[in-house]
Amino acid sequence: MDNLDRKRWDLIIIGAGASGMTAAIAFQKIRLLSGKEKGTVLILEKNERVGKKVLATGNGRCNLSNKDMSLSHFHSHETDFPGKVLSNVTPLACLSFLSEIGIVTTSEGDKLFPMSKTSASVVDAFRYAMDELDVVIAQDASVTDVVKEDIFTITCEDGRTFSSDLLIVACGGACASYSGTTGDGYKWLSKLGHKVFAPKPSIVQLLTENSVTKALSGLRLDCELTLTADGNVVAEQYGEVLFTDYGLSGPAVLQVSGEVSRRMRKDRLMVPVKVSLRLFDEQTLMGIEEELKERRKTFAVRPTDQFLLSILPQKIGTMLLKTALERPMTLPVSTLTDGDIKKILSTMRSWNFTVLGTRSLEQAQTTIGGADCAEFSEESLESKLVPGLFACGELLDVDGDCGGYNLTWAFASGILAGRSAAMLLPDNTEAQDGN
Ligand SMILES: Cc1cc2nc3c(=O)[nH]c(=O)nc-3n(C[C@H](O)[C@H](O)[C@H](O)COP(=O)(O)OP(=O)(O)OC[C@H]3O[C@@H](n4cnc5c(N)ncnc54)[C@H](O)[C@@H]3O)c2cc1C
Repeated sequence: MDNLDRKRWDLIIIGAGASGMTAAIAFQKIRLLSGKEKGTVLILEKNERVGKKVLATGNGRCNLSNKDMSLSHFHSHETDFPGKVLSNVTPLACLSFLSEIGIVTTSEGDKLFPMSKTSASVVDAFRYAMDELDVVIAQDASVTDVVKEDIFTITCEDGRTFSSDLLIVACGGACASYSGTTGDGYKWLSKLGHKVFAPKPSIVQLLTENSVTKALSGLRLDCELTLTADGNVVAEQYGEVLFTDYGLSGPAVLQVSGEVSRRMRKDRLMVPVKVSLRLFDEQTLMGIEEELKERRKTFAVRPTDQFLLSILPQKIGTMLLKTALERPMTLPVSTLTDGDIKKILSTMRSWNFTVLGTRSLEQAQTTIGGADCAEFSEESLESKLVPGLFACGELLDVDGDCGGYNLTWAFASGILAGRSAAMLLPDNTEAQDGN
């Protein structure tokens, strides 16, 4: 291990998350591959350990990539930017990078996980690789300021300062602050002249009018979800929806949540947004219609709230009937008209929930917004404004869908930034070190 007292480092990386650790390893590997000496690399990490957020990914299983890498899964104000970066470092190249440091993968549907299905093993593989490549890590080193004169000077909360020729800012976005990411990088990049898009939450639960969802809190349904904004369909997703006290959650809801966030300004929706749940396909609904007409005769004296018995879970069935029909649930089934049955089917086809917004950045899994990609080279991720400065990961204005896309972005951009920084470093920099 190197000594933290070194006066000047070749490269400092702020943040030992997915992208920062990747950048450090990529930097050293490229130096060695090009027949040069390893550089002096220091990572400053605010937490007491590296990779804290990576540990939480995929519910502790780390969904690190996906077989479907269509570019539609990545979003940015600079729409072509993620694709350009991912053509310089492809998702496949990310997987070979992971494999080179000992992370082998397995799939579950399209999603890729480490074979261990344990995110701790991913963090361990990164720790070993960094150690073997002489990357120095300063933990409990919360950066508060970055200044660029000839070289970079980085100041930490405890007063320590560090200097380097090159700087990679990899301190993540502004969501899930419990893992260390509090949007600190935006401040320094703004100070250095960069534009930053206001951070918004994505992969997050939705707040809806909640009288129905509250009554069904904790219950789940597999259904087709359609999100409309101002009357236009903006997202469709099949999957599990979870009813909660505040609105809707579950994988299908998290997946479309970014489209809600993008339509919000200062916590308010700019257009009316609605979620519709389709519980059954058309063919199944035809069968249900026949069944309900039969039930009206067979179970004529039963109360209305039992009408969907075994078609839906009891609580959900009763709530759907209450939503569809304005009538006491105690009335006998025989009093239901054909029109009432049509209304029940129509609600099963499209059960509507008015969206009020999203939950906060704290509950989100990724950040929409961040440093404007237009001011960074897509070939190298070097700043176009400050030579020697690079950014990668969630700090940049790129967010991915749920399903391994955000880690893929963190790895790809980390590799690109690390690799490019290594190319920029002149040889024999130790001579200038002064140590
Ligand atoms: C609960 C949860 C589950 C997720 N699951 C998945 C998943 O399964 N698949 C997927 O693809 N994505 C997932 N994500 C998203 C993914 O984890 C992130 O997009 C990714 O980790 C971003 O990498 P990064 O390097 O940019 O930032 P991070 O991994 O967040 O790392 C940034 C690091 O910088 C440090 N830092 C911040 N400020 C400072 C400072 N001032 N000084 C020093 N250090 C600082 C932080 O402590 C942190 O360690 C999940 C996110 C969450 C919150």
